[in-house]
Amino acid sequence: MKLIVPIKQVPETGNVKMDEEKGTMVRDGVESIVNPLDLYSIECALKLKEEHGGTVTVISMGPPKAEKAIREALSMGCDEGILLTDKAFAGSDTWATSYVISEAIKTLGDFDLIVAGVRATDGDTGQVGPEIAAMLDLPIATFVSRINSIENGIMNVTRLVEGGYEQVKFSMPALITVVNEISFPRLPTLRGKQTARTKDIPVVKKDDLAIDSDSLGLEGSPTRVVKIMRPKVIRNGVILDVNKIGIKKAVEELVNFLEEKNFV
Ligand SMILES: Cc1cc2nc3c(=O)[nH]c(=O)nc-3n(C[C@H](O)[C@H](O)[C@H](O)COP(=O)(O)OP(=O)(O)OC[C@H]3O[C@@H](n4cnc5c(N)ncnc54)[C@H](O)[C@@H]3O)c2cc1C
Repeated sequence: MKLIVPIKQVPETGNVKMDEEKGTMVRDGVESIVNPLDLYSIECALKLKEEHGGTVTVISMGPPKAEKAIREALSMGCDEGILLTDKAFAGSDTWATSYVISEAIKTLGDFDLIVAGVRATDGDTGQVGPEIAAMLDLPIATFVSRINSIENGIMNVTRLVEGGYEQVKFSMPALITVVNEISFPRLPTLRGKQTARTKDIPVVKKDDLAIDSDSLGLEGSPTRVVKIMRPKVIRNGVILDVNKIGIKKAVEELVNFLEEKNFV
């Protein structure tokens, strides 16, 4: 099986700062790590490789330092890594990001499965996986929690859906996004780290791909961040102290409050 895993390097902190003027994330001076949810897609791909044979290629679009994320994936056991980096890619929205990744995947030849993370912990849209599938015209199953079988090019998976699970079948090549129930990510081995340290990671630039320059970066992105602000949390609540007013009075006041607000 030829497996491809798109991974994103994200800031280590959960507290991502925004440039309110430009409408972009501030990444300078923040330690970067592999998107924690992508560790599950890496693990899923490695398990499939162990079961069915084949190779796992990780692909990441980002600044040159995203190479570190690729090396981490290689140290877990992935075979190849590709870094998509170019000034022209900077500021891309999810559409432009998916466009570049899809065009890069097209250059890799035939493959069986793309395993993407369900979302990145910084941008958090969950759009890139499904967009890559749409751009490459692939069947997609999102929120996959279990791979039940792969037989004669047909994949049978269980998806986590609101209120339960559902089972779906589709033909490969395909794209899946996986949730953390899929399997717990392994730790890199010492040998894996040693191999990863010296592994050649091809760098792909804009001119290496058959892409339209007007569809890249901030200018080429169809999404516009019109305004960014921190939502203000306004709490107009009332504190009812049961010890002071007693339980009966507290319940009465609570019911009155909910009725006033039209909550009941
Ligand atoms: C108008 C606009 C401007 C933006 N400008 C900037 C900017 O200037 N600088 C900036 O850093 N970001 C910018 N972003 C954010 C950037 O678009 C997203 O970080 C990126 O497109 C991925 O989206 P996401 O983080 O929501 O990923 P999700 O869609 O939540 O990620 C889901 C999965 O897709 C895959 N994936 C996502 N991103 C990548 C990637 N880069 N490489 C490989 N696989 C990936 C991973 O498997 C991941 O688990 C901007 C966004 C918008 C809308």
